[in-house]
Amino acid sequence: MKLNDRGLLVVISGPSGVGKGTVRKALFDMPNNNLVYSVSMTTRPKRPGEIDGVDYYFVSEAEFLKRKKSGKFLETAEFVGNYYGTPLDKVNEQLDLGNEVVLEIEVDGAQQVKKKMPDCVMIFIVPPGKNALYERLRRRGTESEEIIVERIEKANREFKLAHRYDYIVVNDEVHNAADRIMAIIRAEHAKTERSIHKYMELIDEN
Ligand code: 5GP
Repeated sequence: MKLNDRGLLVVISGPSGVGKGTVRKALFDMPNNNLVYSVSMTTRPKRPGEIDGVDYYFVSEAEFLKRKKSGKFLETAEFVGNYYGTPLDKVNEQLDLGNEVVLEIEVDGAQQVKKKMPDCVMIFIVPPGKNALYERLRRRGTESEEIIVERIEKANREFKLAHRYDYIVVNDEVHNAADRIMAIIRAEHAKTERSIHKYMELIDEN
């Protein structure tokens, strides 16, 4: 008998500069994973080194709003003057294939996902200390001072919503944070409410 295991929808959030992207990449480099990254769509300008279709799908505002109107997103949010959204089509398809789908999104979008797909796993990444966050944002050097200040303000607001998440993961060391997320994914799969139906099928009723 095939034990059909649907993948988990894993939502990762955390304040700007916490290193979500780096943790996510370390997570995807772990052996024997069946993680699929949901590439978001955005109207934000491409940063040096970013690749269309890999980091984001970069689109115009008109294109984004057209897609939003025709229901093509699982969630959308405005973040410091730009739109971001999770394309819906791939998410369910990959979950049905048994893959874990990872969304790396901000807090407003995460709340929309929780409402639509309540069995998702919500993880909030925090820095080991507040200064670490600000230093990293400035060191990245990809944004103007004005945008950095806006992102720091947004980070403060995001912190206050951490209690809405199922798990908090400290990014003290990237590989530690990735290990913790993998441990959460494994534990979630073993949760009785997610797995009991498979074992009920194994019981011979005669
Ligand atoms: P950045 O501009 O630094 O790449 O991303 C800004 C914020 O938007 C980050 O917190 C990132 O996780 C979030 N983000 C990226 N893609 C999406 C998305 O599809 N939906 C939402 N709600 N947030 C996103």
